[in-house]
Amino acid sequence: MNLKTKYYNPDIETMERGELDALVEERIKYTVNYAAENSLFYKKWFREHNIKPSDIRSHEDLLELPIISGKTIRENQPPETVDFGFRAVDWKDVFTVHETSGTSGTPKSFFLTWEDWERYAEKYARSFVSQGFGPGDRVVVCASYGMNVGANTMTLAARNIGMTIIPIGKCNFPPRVMTSYKPTSIVGSVFKLISLAKRMKMQGMDPTESSIERLIVGGESFPDESRNYVAEIWGCDVFNTYGSTEGTMCGECSHLKGLHVPEDLVHMDVYDPRMDGFVKDGECGRIVLTTLLPVGARCGNVLLNYDTEDTTVVLDREKCSCGRTHMRVLNPQREAETFWIFETPFNRVDVEKGVFQRENMEYLTGEYEAFLYGGEDEGEVTLRVSLECEDAEKCDRQVIESNFLGSFLKYKRVLEDAYMQGSLDIIFNYVGPGQLEFYHIKGRPKRIVDRR
Ligand SMILES: [Zn+2]
Repeated sequence: MNLKTKYYNPDIETMERGELDALVEERIKYTVNYAAENSLFYKKWFREHNIKPSDIRSHEDLLELPIISGKTIRENQPPETVDFGFRAVDWKDVFTVHETSGTSGTPKSFFLTWEDWERYAEKYARSFVSQGFGPGDRVVVCASYGMNVGANTMTLAARNIGMTIIPIGKCNFPPRVMTSYKPTSIVGSVFKLISLAKRMKMQGMDPTESSIERLIVGGESFPDESRNYVAEIWGCDVFNTYGSTEGTMCGECSHLKGLHVPEDLVHMDVYDPRMDGFVKDGECGRIVLTTLLPVGARCGNVLLNYDTEDTTVVLDREKCSCGRTHMRVLNPQREAETFWIFETPFNRVDVEKGVFQRENMEYLTGEYEAFLYGGEDEGEVTLRVSLECEDAEKCDRQVIESNFLGSFLKYKRVLEDAYMQGSLDIIFNYVGPGQLEFYHIKGRPKRIVDRR
């Protein structure tokens, strides 16, 4: 087999572990020096803390450097400061400017050079090839072409591997796109792919009989249940990706055993909840990223120890059955979507898993939202789950509720006890199509709202 059709960059993607670790260390050293010399923020930081950049030699040494967050970036850019503290090239070398939509305050600014674009695109190209994409594929990109980088990066990656991109930039496209261009894939969110399949069926088209060969989902985390449901209604494989403007871009390969992290281009550490050390592989922790630059390279923005506020588990650093050696991680979850009841955490993904139990999907559309009320002080917390149904009158509520509770309370002893004793109340609300509250609010649906 031609290695080029199996891997995008075979030398790097299948590099033996020892060699890969050495390459990472070399790039950490170079990138730390690059940051200290080129970013206003790091220049000042190293001087004020009297630390020599050359003392940072390995990935453990990154523990000596501060962990920065979105807040740090905002505090070191206009209007807070005169210049952008994390910008690491002259303006004349900045090719594009980006912003990430923060939940609060001014968006964070990012600067990319053309070299950065090439590296970003390589990460996507590797991921596409690992999922079986190649010349002749036609991919509808639903992700928006805005101040973020995702859609543009995929488009650039397609050029590198000879694919056609249909840059629609949103998911609400008419089903005629399917019949006219016969795309082989769509990049979109779980919910948009479900709703597209539904609209196709209404027009007499069967998604499983369509030209689609595989789908890519990304943008937010989801349980296996919702992925399996999308795979079932489309009759094809569904691959997960995790990417951000900060420079991560991880993707599942066709063996579906976790998301490969392009270790030579971005360094991912997983921290304990106190953020003072790494967790062991196999344990859940916070994803902290460091840009990795090949020796001699330059970049528009440099981040060392950037707290993504997402959590994951490192599954394996051994060779995957696809032949790639780069480590694999579990589908990351957003810390901001984790809620606590009686000192027990649960994530939006846990609620979604309860909704998408296969039997429930005979009645539900998959769309849901949930609200938390009450107070632990008053001794009672209510989780109210609203479920959108094809026909609210015809749902088997008993089946749905028992499936939901069985899944949601599994492995959560404290919550199960609280539910049994009545201090946690879980109530269900069934609504017809289009009647969930989030439909009336602009932007990405907020599926769990804490009203305590
Ligand atoms: Zn693999």
